[in-house]
Amino acid sequence: MNDNELRALIKQIVEEETQPGIPIGVSNHHIHLSEEDFETLFPGQKMTKFKNLRQPADFASNSKVTVVGPKGEIPGVRVLGPYRKQSQVELSLTDGFQIGVNLPVRMSGNLDGAPSVTLKTDAAEITVAGAIAAKRHVHMSLEDAKKYGVKLGDNIAVEVTNGKRRLVFNDVVARPREDFVLEMHIDTDEANAAGLSKDSIARIISDNN
Ligand SMILES: [Zn+2]
Repeated sequence: MNDNELRALIKQIVEEETQPGIPIGVSNHHIHLSEEDFETLFPGQKMTKFKNLRQPADFASNSKVTVVGPKGEIPGVRVLGPYRKQSQVELSLTDGFQIGVNLPVRMSGNLDGAPSVTLKTDAAEITVAGAIAAKRHVHMSLEDAKKYGVKLGDNIAVEVTNGKRRLVFNDVVARPREDFVLEMHIDTDEANAAGLSKDSIARIISDNN
């Protein structure tokens, strides 16, 4: 091992010691609904919890809908709670091709110009504007943000390693908030691109603004 290799190895060890892996949450396609839209799709029902998610404010509900686009439909897309001000459909780009919708890659909540899709249940059918592919991001506490030297909206680079399909994701948005816990959110396309498995580790490698 020469000097440079030794340096690289020490740097890697220091990084691993000072920055244990960031948990990775893979977001399957899902839907956020306004209370009004929920009541239309599920008349007389209340949103009930299927399971907690890692972010304390969020949960998966027991409700599922069919998402319909011009070229196809995706059944059984889960509704996440709590209610949002505005309904929003989050799909992978693969889903978008499947149903014929050209999805913009956006942060959650930014729906300007996002295409409309139809949501269908046994009881009703509504049109929602819009559908997006969620921009990958890292939830973190305010203390985490300090530790990593990042602020809300910063673009960071995150390496995902599992020995098989190592990948650096650039343009990952930092999302510090008081009630957030450390977790990287990527969608199923991104998880597959990285060959993600249970022992995969994510690590912030730089600020790539
Ligand atoms: Zn998220």
